[in-house]
Amino acid sequence: MPQTSPPAQIGQHLSEVDTPALLLDLDLFEQNIKTMTGSLADREIVFRPHAKTHKCPAAALRQIAAGAIGVCCQKVGEAEVMAYSGIKNILVTNQIVGAQKLRRLCALAKTVDIAVLADHPDQVAPYSAAAQEAGIELPVLVEINLGGDRCGIDPGEPAAELAKMIDAAPKLTFAGLQAYHGAAQHLRTPAERTKAIAQAVDLVNLTKTALTAAGLPCPTVTGAGTGTYLHEAASGVFTELQCGSYIFMDKDYAANLGPDGAPVGRFANALLVYVTVISRAAPTRAVVDAGHKTVPVDSGMPLVRNHPEIEYDKPSDEHGKLILPADSPLKIGDKLQLIPAHCDPTVNMFDWIVCFRGDRVEELWSVAARGCNR
Ligand SMILES: *Cc1c(COP(=O)(O)O)cnc(C)c1O
Repeated sequence: MPQTSPPAQIGQHLSEVDTPALLLDLDLFEQNIKTMTGSLADREIVFRPHAKTHKCPAAALRQIAAGAIGVCCQKVGEAEVMAYSGIKNILVTNQIVGAQKLRRLCALAKTVDIAVLADHPDQVAPYSAAAQEAGIELPVLVEINLGGDRCGIDPGEPAAELAKMIDAAPKLTFAGLQAYHGAAQHLRTPAERTKAIAQAVDLVNLTKTALTAAGLPCPTVTGAGTGTYLHEAASGVFTELQCGSYIFMDKDYAANLGPDGAPVGRFANALLVYVTVISRAAPTRAVVDAGHKTVPVDSGMPLVRNHPEIEYDKPSDEHGKLILPADSPLKIGDKLQLIPAHCDPTVNMFDWIVCFRGDRVEELWSVAARGCNR
């Protein structure tokens, strides 16, 4: 259960919502889901959005209602929250290490479809042991490195060798390839993104050829994020897409450019942090009640929505300093909406998402997987 009480009540006027609060503009959220569904309408491809973006079963269920087959999770704890909320099909897009976590992962396999990744032979025996102990069959996908240099075994022969080991291990099934190019998502120009995913598709094909030579079918190739998914969808190689950020968007993603040199603008900034001015000690300075512990700045400072003249300059733990024009009428008690630079860590700062339509609070969603980092 969330530790804090909700900052709002259903039916309240938005201006009555206490701060800091995480707001979701429902019209824009629904528009983003519709845009995604529309952009994939003529594609034979499965959609499995990433739940690390929202950590919120209510959001996942809306995506599933719009056609998603299930969710991706990054952590076993997130997968538990999603499974206990009725989501039946979960891919943990990560390497899970340690007997305690593997026991929890395999326990979920008794009630939901769950799969996990491997990128090294050392993960295979523990996965197999945990699946045998639980008496379940565990699907495992091989994660290949497409140039993002995070997790991922080298494509081609090394990946096929690992797939063979998985196929031979008791109670494991080789289920396909995880091919997510994280580093390509925020490449700013369309030419850079096109090139990165063309190279990724070559590496997937190289690996599929090696799998075929080894006599292993590859039923699934899954990957892609909000920045590149149209390329993966058009590749003819990917069978599944994992976009996460598109439902909320953030300042950083909004800086990706389209062919005309303008921001892509396909998805709207639906996620906002509502803040209050608590100090106005100088003509060009104000302070709001949201600093590092409310709005993460790993991808840059947030924007102030509808106020291009105001700059969020510098956070400390619980203060956010604003720089204003000297004649700004901003006063103590005024509320502002910030567009966070990176939606995923921002969501993890809040127990509740206050969903509004127009100027009224319509729903309160629990960020039930908040803090689930095990
Ligand atoms: C974060 C992530 C995604 C989603 O990417 P977005 O850029 O948020 O759309 C998909 N797959 C994996 C493995 C990820 O880590």
